[in-house]
Amino acid sequence: MSMEQVMVIGAGLAGCEAAWQLAQRGIPVLLREMKPQKMTPAHHSTDFGELVCSNSLRSDQIENAVGLLKEELRRGGSLILACADATRVEAGGALAVDRTGFSALITERIKSHPLITVLEGEVAEIPKEGQVVIATGPLTSQALSERIADLFPGMDYLSFYDAAAPLVTFESVNMEHAWFASRYDKGTADYINCPLTGEEYDAFWRALCTAQEAPVHGFEDKSVFEGCMPVEVMARRGRQTLCYGPLKPRGLRDPKTGQEPFAVVQLRRDNREGSIYNLVGFQTHLRFPEQKRVFSMIPALQNAEFVRYGIMHRNTYLDSPRLLDRYYRVRGSRRLMFAGQITGVEGYVESTASGFLTGVELARRLLGQPPADFPQETAVGALALYVSNESIVQFQPMNINFGIIPPLDHRVKGKRNKNAELSQRALEALARLDF
Ligand SMILES: Cc1cc2nc3c(=O)[nH]c(=O)nc-3n(C[C@H](O)[C@H](O)[C@H](O)COP(=O)(O)OP(=O)(O)OC[C@H]3O[C@@H](n4cnc5c(N)ncnc54)[C@H](O)[C@@H]3O)c2cc1C
Repeated sequence: MSMEQVMVIGAGLAGCEAAWQLAQRGIPVLLREMKPQKMTPAHHSTDFGELVCSNSLRSDQIENAVGLLKEELRRGGSLILACADATRVEAGGALAVDRTGFSALITERIKSHPLITVLEGEVAEIPKEGQVVIATGPLTSQALSERIADLFPGMDYLSFYDAAAPLVTFESVNMEHAWFASRYDKGTADYINCPLTGEEYDAFWRALCTAQEAPVHGFEDKSVFEGCMPVEVMARRGRQTLCYGPLKPRGLRDPKTGQEPFAVVQLRRDNREGSIYNLVGFQTHLRFPEQKRVFSMIPALQNAEFVRYGIMHRNTYLDSPRLLDRYYRVRGSRRLMFAGQITGVEGYVESTASGFLTGVELARRLLGQPPADFPQETAVGALALYVSNESIVQFQPMNINFGIIPPLDHRVKGKRNKNAELSQRALEALARLDF
C-alpha cells in the first residue's frame, strides 16, 4: 500500500523531529524549508535544527523536569536528542552541544533518510489538501503568518519578546582576568569566570543601564518573557539585581584571591573546539556598538572579539488552548497540525517534544492505529495537554515543569526525592505505552 505523503513546513527542531518520527514509521515526508533562500532575523546557518541563541538544552538531571523530558525523548527514539548526545560539550549538569556539529548531523540524518524529501523555498500558502504540519517557529515568515491568521479569523497571534546573547572568541578573552571553574567546583571546570570588583561592577552597571537600545517596535519591559529577559532590562531593576541573577558570584572562588568576587560573568563553551564562548544570561537588545562598548568593560573582555552580537525579536505563537487538541491538531480539522514554539511551548527541548508527539500521533492515525495518548504523568504528554487545555484563559509560553504533571498520591520528603519519584513514574508510564 503506498502511503500518503505528509508535508512538514520548517526544518527547525520541531519540524525535523516530526519528519523523522513520521518517516521512521514508514510515512513519506516532504520537508519544506525556506533557508538559505530566505532567512529569519535570528537564523544564520544553512543547516537544519539551528539553535538561534544558547547552545544549552538545559539540565540533564532526571530530578529536573527538562531532564525528564529529554530522557523521555531519548527513550522514544528522538532524532534531535540523539544528535545532541552525539555532539555534546561539557557543561556541568547540563546538556550543551557544539551548535555547528549538532545542526550538521541533523541535516545529514534528515537528508539521507530514504522517506524524506527536502524542498527548499518559502511556503507562502497553506496547502489546500493533504496532511500538513506547520513547524515554522517563533519567526514564521510574514506571508505564511498572514495565511495562518486567515485560518483563525478574529483571533490575534499572541506574542512576547525574545533575545539572544552575544558570542566571543576564546583567544580574545584575557585569561589574566579570568579562570576556569564550575560553580561550587562541581563536575569539570567548564565555565570561564570573569570577575568584577565592586568598583568595576558599579561602572559596568551604570553603563549598562544607560546604554542605547536598538529600536524594537512596541517594546515595553512588561511584555518581556521572564525566562529570556534582556540583561539591560534586568539591570534597570536595581543595582544588586544582576548579582542575584547572571552575575551571581556564589560558589565561584577566584584562585588569585581565594575569595568570591563582587560579581562574576560566566562564559560557556559554544563549540566542541572551545574556540567560541557565549556570555551566559546576556540576552540583549542593545545596539551593536553599545554591546561592544559596555561588555568590554568586563576586565576579561577588554579586547573581546564579538563573533555575533545579541539580538531581540518579537516571538509569536498561537492561542493554542482555543485552537489545538492534545495531538497539536487544529480542532475540527482532519489534516492540519502545528508543532514547535509556534504552539506556545517554550524552548528547544519543548519544541522538539511537540514535534515528536505530532509525528508519532499523525503516523499512527495514517497507519490506522489508535492514538498513543501520552498521559499527563509523562512530560511529553503533560506539555501537550497543557497547551491544549481550554480552561487556560491568558495563555503564556510554557517551559516544561513539574507543576503541570499530576502530583504523587503519597508524601515524599525533600523536593529532589519527590521529583525523582515523579520522573520514575513518568518513565514507567512511558514504557507501558505502545507507540
Ligand atoms: C532570538 C531568540 C532566542 C531564543 N533563545 C532560546 C534559547 O536560548 N533557548 C531555548 O531553549 N529557546 C530559545 N528560543 C526559542 C527557540 O526559538 C525555540 O526554542 C526553538 O528554536 C523553536 O523550534 P521550532 O522548531 O519551533 O522553530 P525554529 O527552530 O525557529 O524552526 C523554524 C524553521 O522554519 C523555517 N521557516 C519559517 N517560515 C517558513 C516558511 N514560510 N516556509 C518555510 N520555512 C519556514 C525557519 O527558517 C526555521 O528553520 C529563542 C528564540 C528566539 C527567536
